[in-house]
Amino acid sequence: MAAVRAIRPRCYWDGAVAHPSPVLGIAADGTLADPAGLPVEDVDGVVLPGLVNAHTHLEVAAVPRPETRGFLPWLGGLKTAGGAYTGSDAERFLQPAVVRARAMRAAGTAVVGDISNTGLTAKLIRDAGMTGVCFHERIGIDVPSHAVLPDTIPAPHAVYSTHPGWIIACRERYATAQSAPRPNETPAPWSIHVDEDPFEEEFLRGEGPWPGMLRAFGRNLDDFPYPYVSPIAYLDQLTQLTGALLVHCVQTRPADLDRIAARDATICLCVRSNLWIGGRVPDVQGMVDRGIRLVVGTDSLASSPDLDILAELSALRNAFPALDARVVLGMGTAAGRAVYGVSAPAEHLLVEGPRDLEQLLDGTVWPRRWLDEAAGEGARTA
Ligand SMILES: [Zn+2]
Repeated sequence: MAAVRAIRPRCYWDGAVAHPSPVLGIAADGTLADPAGLPVEDVDGVVLPGLVNAHTHLEVAAVPRPETRGFLPWLGGLKTAGGAYTGSDAERFLQPAVVRARAMRAAGTAVVGDISNTGLTAKLIRDAGMTGVCFHERIGIDVPSHAVLPDTIPAPHAVYSTHPGWIIACRERYATAQSAPRPNETPAPWSIHVDEDPFEEEFLRGEGPWPGMLRAFGRNLDDFPYPYVSPIAYLDQLTQLTGALLVHCVQTRPADLDRIAARDATICLCVRSNLWIGGRVPDVQGMVDRGIRLVVGTDSLASSPDLDILAELSALRNAFPALDARVVLGMGTAAGRAVYGVSAPAEHLLVEGPRDLEQLLDGTVWPRRWLDEAAGEGARTA
């Protein structure tokens, strides 16, 4: 597509490299094109490809923060407030999800990995102008199989809540898609929350609060094969971590990070959610040092103040100031696109105000707009 305007921002981030004061040609759809022959307009800010929110829950509502830190008080608060869909009145959860998806798009998100309990968010992601995946979350420690809805990818919830047979089935679905990919399509990963809380590992030894709680919820653990290993080692036994998108990894120890690196699995970081729920962050430097592929998600409004991935990237930088801004931005752009198999040319976004990547991630809520024709007329400004 031909360029319709030429701009010179203060900085352009292409997903891997920062370019100071480049001249960029912008096509009508927000992709880049040859700027030759067009008058150059100086713009104040940073241009970058649309952002990737690799893990969110569009259907989940904001709930009051419990007085006690920790995963179980947080989960109890979510249940009490009725913040997540549990099988009835899907429309009550889908209507606000439409509004959240539009707000995410307006704030610069192009690609989203949504964990859905209704299994019905694929359409609203598309309707909001984004691409991505609706992961239909599967819960049931004593349910070895589930029906798979069209337009979704099944995703186990966690090691203490999803039957191992279903975890294996999700990996096999990925392997099948990988062995016979559709044209121009990389299979999306399979996703699981893991090592978010110390009770997961205790559960895998038959200890801690989860066995009793699950029985109280009516679950049958009589045949559960407790593996007596760490959650990552357990998933490795079940799946070799093939195609895994491992969400959180707050508790993951060095030996298991080595395992994740050796298996070439991906970790999705959600540090604002981790700080909100448990007050701890993962060993991100250890992950970077091992060359583990990292992407970033906001998680849900039940544990995050917003679904703004630029704010999430800023929080990650703030939590780990030694990380290079380029490494952090790569997680929210190029790495996310690669993990979700998005190969189409990226639409571009202008974040107005910052002079460079350092300032872009300093925690300021910068205004931003998409660089397509509509945005050029002032529409779709966040
Ligand atoms: Zn989550």
